[in-house]
This record gives sequence, C-alpha cells and structure tokens, in this order.
Amino acid sequence: FEKINENVDGKDELAQMERTYNEMMEELEQNYNKQEQFVSNASHELKTPLTVIESYASLLIRRGLENREVVDEALAAILSETGRMKEMITQMLDLAKSNEAQAFEFVDTNVNQLVEDVVKPLRQAYGRDIQIEADEQYYVETDGKYVKQLLFILLDNARKYSDGEIVASINDQSNGVEVTVKDYGKGIPKEDIPHLFDRFYRVDSDRSRKTGGTGLGLSIAKEIADGLGANLSIESVVGMGTCIRVFIPNKREDSQ
Ligand code: ADP
Repeated sequence: FEKINENVDGKDELAQMERTYNEMMEELEQNYNKQEQFVSNASHELKTPLTVIESYASLLIRRGLENREVVDEALAAILSETGRMKEMITQMLDLAKSNEAQAFEFVDTNVNQLVEDVVKPLRQAYGRDIQIEADEQYYVETDGKYVKQLLFILLDNARKYSDGEIVASINDQSNGVEVTVKDYGKGIPKEDIPHLFDRFYRVDSDRSRKTGGTGLGLSIAKEIADGLGANLSIESVVGMGTCIRVFIPNKREDSQ
C-alpha cells in the first residue's frame, strides 16, 4: 500500500514540477516578448524625430545659404526634435532603472513639502496657476525622491494638456496620504484610459501635437507607484478635465 502511495505522490510531484516549469517558461516568454516589443517601439519612436532632423538638415544644405527663413525654420525644428529625443532617452533610462531592483528609502516625509518642491519650478517655468490645497501638514513614510518624480509627471501632463487652473490637493487617508492632481483641460476619451500606462501610448489627437511628449510618462509613473506600493487612479471626462489620484501608503523600511 505504501509503495502505491509513494508512486502516486511521485506522480503528483512530477505533475507539479511540470506545471511550475511551464509557468516559468510562459513568464520568461512573456517578458521576452515585452522586451522585444519595447525595443521595436523605442526604435520606431526615435526614428520619427531623426527623420525630421535629417530632412531639415538636407534642406539647410540645399537652400540654407540663400534663404534666411529656411535657416530659422530648420534650426527651430532640429532643436525641438533633438529636445524630444533627449527626453525620450532620459525616460527610457528611467524605465530601465525601474526594472532593476530599486533601492527605496522609506522615511517619514512631509508630503506638502514634496508637492511644493514640484509645483514651484513648474509655476516659474510656465507661469501657470497651480494651486495647492491642504488643511494641514501631512506626513507619510515613503521615498520622497520617487514621489516627486511621480508627481512631476502628473503635474507636467496637467500643464501640457490644459490651459487653465491646476489644483494639487493633499488629503489624509487611513494608513497613508492621497495627492490628487486635477486639471480642467481637454480630458481623455474613455476608451483610451485603460491603455494610458502602456509604454509609448498616446491619445491619437496628441500624437501629432506640438506639446512634446513621448507616451512614456505615465508608464514610468506606474512603475514608480508599484515600487512605492502606491495606487494610481485616473478619472477623466472629454472637454471637462482630468483628475489623477495617488494614494501613498505608509511603508516602513522592513515592510518592503
Ligand atoms: P506623454 O509624454 O505623451 O504626455 P504620458 O504617458 O504621460 O505621455 O501620457 C500618455 C497620454 O495620455 C498623453 O500623450 C495624452 O494623450 C494623455 N494624457 C495624459 N495626461 C493627460 C491629461 N492630464 N489630460 C489629457 N490627456 C492626458
């Protein structure tokens, strides 16, 4: 009897091993496909500004000497496209970094100060009306450096895709703090919302706009949020505006 049971156990174990192996292979394959997709998207996205730069450079050679307007137009386009490429490369490096095991440092952090640190340069650089609403000083155990990077992405998007007032509000939540970034801009179509965290995804009408933008910002924000144990949720109505909530949990060093 014992012998039979042993055999049955052995079979179970084998079946279990086979399942685990299959699952591992599936995961590896998925990761590989994602990586491949990323490289192919990245090359495609980088090629677009390069093509613009190439054609303006050749225009400069052909007509630059005799036409001052051509020179101005070509140089402006080359400068703006190199800027876009630079932003894209910086963001890709950020994403590559976020795939490595990140060293987060969770310490007691003043959230009001973080929001202020991000808002101030944006106000100065763009002269935008960005309000901060908070009833008191809020603290949470988190990594302030990454929270700032995340908030910058959200506030910079609010700036790019709206013209009016932007409001960042801070609220207490059980076991954490919530920061909400609200704009009264163009909004995001419902069908696009589920894809916003995909790398290189942009709403169609923004792909050709001169706002800049790479479609990488929100995917970086999501990676950071995952690392912080934070939660991101997006509500938006076309023509009304967008509201993004970030719940930042209290997270201690030893609870990683
Ligand atoms: P991008 O660099 O293009 O801004 P993101 O990943 O940050 O990339 O955002 C993806 C897309 O989501 C944007 O291209 C834009 O179409 C849309 N989007 C993001 N934030 C907003 C917002 N506050 N209002 C309207 N559309 C937005």
